[in-house]
Amino acid sequence: MPAANRAEIVVDLAAIRANVRRLRELAGVPLIAVVKADGYGHGMVESARAARDGGAEWLATATIDEALALRAAGDRGRLLCWLTVPGEDYAAAIAAGIDVTAYSVAELDEIAAGATEAGLRARVQLKVDTGLSRGGAPRADWAAFFERARAGELAGSWKVTGVWSHFACADEPDHPANDQQEARFHEALALAEEAGLRPDLRHLANSAAAVLRPGARFDAVRCGIAVYGLDPAPGHTQDLGLVPAMTVRARLAMVKDLAAGDSVSYGHLWTADRPTTVGLVPVGYGDGVPRHASGPHHGAEVGVGGKRRPIRGRVCMDQVVVDLGGDRPDAGEAVVLFGPPAAGVPTAQDWAEACGTINYEIVTRIGGRMPRRYVDSEVGR
Ligand SMILES: *Cc1c(COP(=O)(O)O)cnc(C)c1O
Repeated sequence: MPAANRAEIVVDLAAIRANVRRLRELAGVPLIAVVKADGYGHGMVESARAARDGGAEWLATATIDEALALRAAGDRGRLLCWLTVPGEDYAAAIAAGIDVTAYSVAELDEIAAGATEAGLRARVQLKVDTGLSRGGAPRADWAAFFERARAGELAGSWKVTGVWSHFACADEPDHPANDQQEARFHEALALAEEAGLRPDLRHLANSAAAVLRPGARFDAVRCGIAVYGLDPAPGHTQDLGLVPAMTVRARLAMVKDLAAGDSVSYGHLWTADRPTTVGLVPVGYGDGVPRHASGPHHGAEVGVGGKRRPIRGRVCMDQVVVDLGGDRPDAGEAVVLFGPPAAGVPTAQDWAEACGTINYEIVTRIGGRMPRRYVDSEVGR
């Protein structure tokens, strides 16, 4: 076994395929599977293949580099990216048949130059800011932006393949920003049409909106977190039938007795108030385990021998200590940091709550030295 299985990330590709099928069925429109940030920590190329196999018509990444890496790995399907800086290699993206996104007239000018360089007609999607105030053309610029986009189309630089935007509060279904953004998106679409644009793909919804706002589905939905089986809007969704694809496992490096009054890990944050046993888990923030998972108060838990065991004291760079409550498993015993709820282990959502963050960050940041292993469970076969 590599590195004696000190610790590893197990990714269930069958879960990704089943989740995509489920989302595709639930939304009833084409699915754009978002595989940015190394597939939210699940491995971009493998996740992308599984998403395609599950029926995703499109893939999306943030950067051109990510999209080019998918092409280099053999992906030939529809593929969108959306985050660039001045001087980006648009010609390479255009030559690879990648849909690029423009936020501004300046970007459209760069894309035109890229299309000339590539000697090809680009595929361009236009992103409008409907209220997130992050990327996308601000409302005041829409008219000029669409006009330039149409002129480029007439000049043969590109085909405008999509118009899209992104929600700020989709995970809070009752937030008034959702209705406002959807209304503004309709305005943008009307304006684009007036400018003569006829995009095939109008899209607004991320996972949470794909699930919770039927009116926001338009021609496609862009799902990331739900593809990996995590709840996009905890507290607002019913059981969606999604299966978390990631399990993080380690093996106990050591088990020892503590006496009442013994304190644990850097800063002695936690002191045993009774005799107990503790296990040393050989992963830490160097492996992407959040230091915010530290005990004593609301630390995260791990699964050992079918029981949930709390982290005690600070998470270190390479190791954490868990309270085994008097049990004495052998060194080498399996520890599950998080995995699917059906396995009876803590979930990424549990870790997010313990760490004061969201499940996205838990799975995306985990990694470091841990190798990934891909499996195909029986899920959804
Ligand atoms: C990351 C991202 C998504 C996917 O969001 P989820 O909430 O993970 O479904 C969709 N659209 C854009 C623009 C994104 O940056």
